[in-house]
Amino acid sequence: MPVKGIGTYDDTNIFARILRGEIPCRKVHEDAWSLAFHDINPQAPTHILVIPKGRYISMADFTASASSEEIAGFLRAVGTIARSLGLEEPGYRLLANVGEDSGQEVPHLHIHLFAGRPLGPMLVR
Ligand code: AMP
Repeated sequence: MPVKGIGTYDDTNIFARILRGEIPCRKVHEDAWSLAFHDINPQAPTHILVIPKGRYISMADFTASASSEEIAGFLRAVGTIARSLGLEEPGYRLLANVGEDSGQEVPHLHIHLFAGRPLGPMLVR
C-alpha cells in the first residue's frame, strides 16, 4: 500500500532493516552516505536502489531535513554508481517515488536506477 512521503520515520521498514544488516541485500555500493543494492523485483535488466544511510522517509523529508553534506554525499553516490557500472553511455533513468500518488511503498528514501534497455516513455499513458 502506498505510504506518505512525510511524517514519522518507521524504524521497522524493510530498508531500515537492510541498513542494520538484519536482512540481506545484493549490495552494489556502500559509502558513508549511501547504500545501493539490486531491487528484489527488477523492472529493467539493471534495477538498483540507492538509499541514504540517514532516517529519511522520502525526497520531501530528505530535502527538508538532511544536512548539505548528507545531500551532497548521497547524490554524488548515485552518479558514482551509474558511472562505475558504465551506464552513462547508453544511458539510464532515475526515479524517486514520494507519497501516495506516486505509489511509494517503502517509507525510506530510495532512488531507483533503471538501465539495460530502451526504457520507453517516462510514464504509462
Ligand atoms: P517504491 O514503490 O518506489 O517504494 O519501491 C520499492 C521497491 O523496493 C520496489 O521496487 C520493490 O521491488 C523493492 N523492494 C522491496 N523489498 C526489497 C528488498 N528486500 N530488497 C530489495 N528490493 C526490495
